[in-house]
Amino acid sequence: MVTTHPWSPVEAATAGGPDDDKFHEECGVFGVWQSVDAAALTALGLHALQHRGQEAAGIVSLDEAGIFHAHKGLGLVGENFGNAKVMAGLPGRASIGHNRYATTGETALRNVQPLYADFEFGGFAVAHNGNLTNAHQLRRALVRRGCLFQSTTDSEVFVHLVAISLYSTVVDRLIDAIKQVQGAYSLVALHNGALIGARDPLGVRPLVLGRLGAETGRAAGGGVLTSETCALDIVGAEFVRDVEPGEIVVVDDQGVRSIKPFGRQPSRFCIFEYIYFARPDSVVEGTPVYETRKRIGAELARESGVAADVIVPVPDSGVPAAMGYATESGIPFELGIIRNHYVGRTFIEPTDQIRHLGVKLKHSANRAMIEGKRVILVDDSIVRGTTSKKIVEMVRAAGASEVHMRISSPPTTHSCYYGIDTPERGKLMAAQHDTAEMARIIGVDSLAFISLDGLYRALGKPARDPLKPAYCDACFTGDYAIPLTDQQDNNERQLSLLHAVS
Ligand code: SF4
Repeated sequence: MVTTHPWSPVEAATAGGPDDDKFHEECGVFGVWQSVDAAALTALGLHALQHRGQEAAGIVSLDEAGIFHAHKGLGLVGENFGNAKVMAGLPGRASIGHNRYATTGETALRNVQPLYADFEFGGFAVAHNGNLTNAHQLRRALVRRGCLFQSTTDSEVFVHLVAISLYSTVVDRLIDAIKQVQGAYSLVALHNGALIGARDPLGVRPLVLGRLGAETGRAAGGGVLTSETCALDIVGAEFVRDVEPGEIVVVDDQGVRSIKPFGRQPSRFCIFEYIYFARPDSVVEGTPVYETRKRIGAELARESGVAADVIVPVPDSGVPAAMGYATESGIPFELGIIRNHYVGRTFIEPTDQIRHLGVKLKHSANRAMIEGKRVILVDDSIVRGTTSKKIVEMVRAAGASEVHMRISSPPTTHSCYYGIDTPERGKLMAAQHDTAEMARIIGVDSLAFISLDGLYRALGKPARDPLKPAYCDACFTGDYAIPLTDQQDNNERQLSLLHAVS
């Protein structure tokens, strides 16, 4: 989900925050059908998906009388739904929820999902993870037709497209809407008759189907839809399967129905989910994330080994890759950097000076593991390079005799337009400098990234097939599989403005 100017990647609202120098997943979604604890399970599911969005959370529930109830708030799931009174206001056997990562400075309540509207057929709520690449164009057309937008999120486009569709059933209206949007998205929707889930035709963003079993003390057959399997585990639901690219699943009292309006298309799942976004205990597209990250680390060690005394992960996301690197290289693994998990997000102000301090607040060097040693730091990515530079300074200050850095992703040379918050291209270090220059700027003795083919090998593919890549890897290659319609519109508009003034 993106707010305002959806044609361009946007700056993190938390610039200067603890994870300022990372790509950010933008949202997590969760939905449940037929459970007495629907809203409570949704809150738990959103809690498990907290890593996918920390700025706001919302739940919409549907009660037995067909009445919808909603609660949304800025902040973490626990801050919004850890209150019995709030939960008592969300009755019913079905609900959907959403975690939001704000992508602009506007973290307004009106942009918090799920979005809800009353139609002639009844209530309809929707929450989505991802980014529509033609949202701006659709929005302009809808506004010209008289649609009044209440928020600046591209998710609202779905609501208006459903509203104006001439089809009679909710599912057909949603299919009609989905056929008009371009982009990478997973959505959950709720109406009086069903919980609905949908994935974009290339399956870039994740969505899984689960089932609540009788052993959990709840009605057997209750359905769950969620961004990641870790949210199934927390509610005691069993994993059924990934929702397929382009598939719409309808979960109702009759069971689960599958609709495939786009036919079969090759999947282009986001490869960065394996590297960084997904929780390590999730199983993504049939592959355990933790194991995959270790395999990526092992491949990295084979590709770019260097003599050293100790492998040190940059916590927390570099840990599994560093373990794989250590096992493959035979060099001991040590926690040479300790992360302070209690750094409050609001504690760090977005100024350059405090940003500098922020790295030290979050990470400390474990001197006893580093002093006098040749250190290989393993991290998952370099985005702006600001954090990497500070960490290297810190490790050197703790007495390391050499500092090498190994990165478990290829250089991130391009921005993401598919639902991941990234800096604009000019601020991506790898877009501006080659590896040798980056090593000099960061201050390491050597720097190496896993190759694109190495990454594909770690994922069980022989190599990247340039004609038919198995994944979306556009932030490493610039190969954008979904048209960037709004971006092109914007470029053309800027060009015509330039011509007008010249
Ligand atoms: S561009 Fe990168 S981060 Fe964005 S969806 Fe593709 S692989 Fe994922």
